[in-house]
Amino acid sequence: MIQLNNISKVFSTKKHDDVVALANVSLEVKKGEIFGVIGYSGAGKSTLVRCVNLLEKPTSGDVIVNGQHLNDMSKEDLRANRQNIGMIFQGFNLLKTATVYDNIAIPLKLAGVATNEIPQRVDKYLQVVGLANKKDDFPNQLSGGQKQRVAIARALSHEPDILLSDEATSALDPETTDAILELLLKINKEFGITILLITHEMHVIQKICDRVAVMENGEIIEQGDVIDLYSNAKNETTKRFIQSIFPHDIPNDILDELSQKGPVISLTFVGTSANKPALSAVSKKFNVHTNILSGNIVQLKDKPFGKLIAHIEGDKVDTDQALAYLRDEGVQISEVTVS
Ligand code: ADP
Repeated sequence: MIQLNNISKVFSTKKHDDVVALANVSLEVKKGEIFGVIGYSGAGKSTLVRCVNLLEKPTSGDVIVNGQHLNDMSKEDLRANRQNIGMIFQGFNLLKTATVYDNIAIPLKLAGVATNEIPQRVDKYLQVVGLANKKDDFPNQLSGGQKQRVAIARALSHEPDILLSDEATSALDPETTDAILELLLKINKEFGITILLITHEMHVIQKICDRVAVMENGEIIEQGDVIDLYSNAKNETTKRFIQSIFPHDIPNDILDELSQKGPVISLTFVGTSANKPALSAVSKKFNVHTNILSGNIVQLKDKPFGKLIAHIEGDKVDTDQALAYLRDEGVQISEVTVS
């Protein structure tokens, strides 16, 4: 659905040296998926997402959306194609002097939608975002979350196939962020809209994304299914993002000391939340103490995913047997190391 082939973007200014914001980035977003791009500030995320609808013209490389090469298009064709790509921003970009209704209706009019069709479109999408009763309010009468809902309704009212989100929840508190992310999930499911979002928050990725790319210094350093990346991150920056959610590893000298007194098991498990009860069951069955040294379970979109480091006191436990027992208890272990 979205294909970026070897995109580079160099900003040249008279005052400063050239800035390479994107260096040979390739990315493919499939129809119907929610794809997240994460990276620290200055990584090139915003430039990347702005290249998809040619708000930023790449210095080189191809932007292909729905099979159409956008960078060779005439201005008129590009304008028509942009109707198919909605965008929401951190700062909402609402017209302050216009009502909620007009914030949606005016762009529809400018896009050439028939006048008699506009009221029903506005009503439909305000309903979708849960703001049907705010039609006559002005932006300064709305909360941040409500403003973002208006911006989402405005984007949806053009009935796009693709929604781009440029840090759409970064200015919102955690509760409102979750509500907006739920809304994006609903839009993705109900209307089949493909979503490409950029964020610096792992929480956003894990809550709604199917796949993720990690950016650093204008490059994509790692990408894949969110679950795969959480299970087996290769790059240090990716690990750092994930570690912000999971506790730090236990220092090696402590692990060495503990492993003298019984096995230490590191487990990564997917699709199950049965860590603690299962470990207590192991304790009971084998008549040993199991201590959880560190661990956490998070929800990756709709699947629980956990990491756990546990110490089994005493060396009379056969760890293979204990792991087999855990699996029997329904723990889907995806990775394990025993020391
Ligand atoms: P991110 O969204 O990850 O914070 P950006 O894409 O905004 O990163 O920026 C990537 C790099 O490009 C940064 O070094 C930034 O300063 C630079 N940059 C972005 N836009 C411009 C611009 N219009 N002119 C000059 N440099 C820019």
